[in-house]
Amino acid sequence: MTDIDIAGPVPYSGDAPASQALFDRARAIVPGGVNSPVRAFRAVGGTPRFMVSGSGCWLTDADGRRYLDLVCSWGPLIHGHAHPEVVAAITAAAARGTSFGTPTPGEVDLAAEIVARTAVDQVRLVNSGTEATMSALRLARGFTGRPKVVKFSGCYHGHVDALLVAAGSGVATLALPDSPGVTGASASDTLVLPYNDVPALEAAFAAHGDQIAAIITEAAAGNMGVVAPRDGFNAKLAEVAHRHGALLILDEVMTGFRVSRGGWAGLEPVDADLYTFGKVMGGGLPAAAFGGRTEIMARLAPAGPVYQAGTLSGNPLACAAGLASLRLATPEVYARLDATAATVSKLATDALTAAGVPHVLSTAGSMFSIFFTDRTVFSFADAQTQDVGAFRAFFHALLDRGVYLPPSAYEAWFVSTAIDDEALSLLAAALPPAARAAAEASGA
Ligand SMILES: *Cc1c(COP(=O)(O)O)cnc(C)c1O
Repeated sequence: MTDIDIAGPVPYSGDAPASQALFDRARAIVPGGVNSPVRAFRAVGGTPRFMVSGSGCWLTDADGRRYLDLVCSWGPLIHGHAHPEVVAAITAAAARGTSFGTPTPGEVDLAAEIVARTAVDQVRLVNSGTEATMSALRLARGFTGRPKVVKFSGCYHGHVDALLVAAGSGVATLALPDSPGVTGASASDTLVLPYNDVPALEAAFAAHGDQIAAIITEAAAGNMGVVAPRDGFNAKLAEVAHRHGALLILDEVMTGFRVSRGGWAGLEPVDADLYTFGKVMGGGLPAAAFGGRTEIMARLAPAGPVYQAGTLSGNPLACAAGLASLRLATPEVYARLDATAATVSKLATDALTAAGVPHVLSTAGSMFSIFFTDRTVFSFADAQTQDVGAFRAFFHALLDRGVYLPPSAYEAWFVSTAIDDEALSLLAAALPPAARAAAEASGA
């Protein structure tokens, strides 16, 4: 969630009186009017749409307007909104009671499904991706007895203090925190490196190798827009980490169970030590997880000394939603997601090409984004060469025509299996005028 705030005057008001009224009310009592920053439309301007319902690939806002949803709750909803089997699973679980504070059968079933699909031996359920990465990092530090962590610029791992640092490029820099409230102390053990840059990695380990507990990386980056690891990059991370006695944490919160049955590691197996999951595995409810080899996971309380806990961890409703979603996610579903992503991205790139808008399509399995630049994107620095003004015009032209894109140029587009022919014809009609709007705004 790279929420790049362009600030300045808001050029687009849109025509959304009910959303505007809700936003005005919200802003008085909720900071910025939203409970997660990127929802506020700061990077594109205008009034964020307050959604009241979703069905299949469609969202309906407070003004009664319908949108084709290409955000899917930022990734979780591979089967679309309110899938009948997911709703039935949640409803049945709710009728049995919402939380017990004891172990429950559903947690074992969900853990078993995750273990069956991935390389992990054991898994611990938590409530958010942030908790998963925070806990995996604590466990890596507890296991190795070392303080430092390597992360990559442009990779987002939730709002964990030590990982909320993206500054630095070129050679390893001791990072400065990205946010007030993150102390120098919690950021000083974080080394930030450019993504896809092996020499920078080797240099960081040459300088600090015996201090590094772990490398954390998005299995395929999706939070600076989609940037796949270059061939062999993830394998190199495992090799370098292991040569120096460090662990590799593969963050599959976004890619996990979306790009394949086994996540990104299902497409490109890598010898990682810990994995984090979230988003799809919760089926639209708050559930996430981290897991790995038994030898490492056994260090976690109550089996071992590294503490980690949660009042609502493994919540029965979240487990029911997650399990129903994963059980629906068959090989046919992944084939359909791949095909739909290819169709949607081709419609978009064809329209942009016809309008003469510089852009590149960047893909990682069925995740993709379109960067408004003519340069191939391997890193956050490459991504930042894009024309954000062209994206804003494109975004608003699509929004006006009933297509809901992620409200930032630095995000993945997400498809669901619910996208049908009606949705594709709406998109095909909306894209050419949106591409012309982007062309007009280009360079402006
Ligand atoms: C979304 C995301 C997170 C954070 O998950 P939350 O549930 O929002 O806390 C962590 N890592 C990656 C790769 C993500 O995409």
